[in-house]
Amino acid sequence: MKENILGLHHITAITGNPQKNYDFYTKVLGLRMVKKTVNFDAPDTYHFYYGNEQGTPGTILTFFSWENIDRGFTGVGMAEEIGYSVPYGSLDFWQERFKQLNITFAGKNERFGEEYLSFIDGDGLNSSLIIPKIADERKSWETKEIGKDFAIKGFQGITLSLKKIDKTAKVLTDILGYRLMSQEDNRYRFITDSVQSASIVDLLENADGAAGRNAIGTIHHLAFRVANENIQMEYREKILSSGLQITPKIDRNYFYSVYFHEPGGVLFEIATDNPGFTVDEPLSELGTHLKLPKQFEHARVEIERVLTPLKSN
Ligand code: ZN
Repeated sequence: MKENILGLHHITAITGNPQKNYDFYTKVLGLRMVKKTVNFDAPDTYHFYYGNEQGTPGTILTFFSWENIDRGFTGVGMAEEIGYSVPYGSLDFWQERFKQLNITFAGKNERFGEEYLSFIDGDGLNSSLIIPKIADERKSWETKEIGKDFAIKGFQGITLSLKKIDKTAKVLTDILGYRLMSQEDNRYRFITDSVQSASIVDLLENADGAAGRNAIGTIHHLAFRVANENIQMEYREKILSSGLQITPKIDRNYFYSVYFHEPGGVLFEIATDNPGFTVDEPLSELGTHLKLPKQFEHARVEIERVLTPLKSN
């Protein structure tokens, strides 16, 4: 199974204010900041990574912080919702927490026989907390306020909104090794059997849906997980020979990446497990220092001057 796509690696979204983003994901949701760095393509802006203790692939939500752009909105050709897995019986805790902290949420609901609670962050980004049918055995990061009976385990999956699902479905099944598991109304659930978590991609078909705008409060791309670069290069070849364009391998310091647009318009990435987040910080200190890749270390003083200072308490 190791040579397969191992579910989701990370999801990347766009935020405005870095402090509000940090407070929401670490305090309200109780995730760990596992890396504080800059966007390697725009080093005067932050790139934050949140996940479990180690930043295990399948738990990692990342944000580009672009303070000077507008708020976006979701439409066809975009990923529209992040699905997090939480422990059985924890939704009442979350509902009460969201009420107390004035977080916008919708009441409990059910799809594919699983109960879930939808909410939005301060930028309008959609997520759901889902009770998976099969208990999620992953170890969560705990905080003083959110113990293990409630804490987020990592991703269950992601929802993409598409005008037509057929070509995207083909990429999932014929290239990435997913299979159609179930359908409810216009929602088609695809799953990979290679892993037990972060294994779901839902495709929502909205034939009359309008295009969205990829800016603050929307998802920028999603990354699928592979064990190493050799496997990544095999997938790169498969994608090329299916007629799609794909980037060369790019070094992202914590993983290697290739990017391609799937035919429905969503930006997909394939990212490696190696080398991981402890490559430049010990496990106990993950996310506590501003880490810069080698090519920007000479400009550290200037970069630190332009970045909004982040209060971590
Ligand atoms: Zn990415």
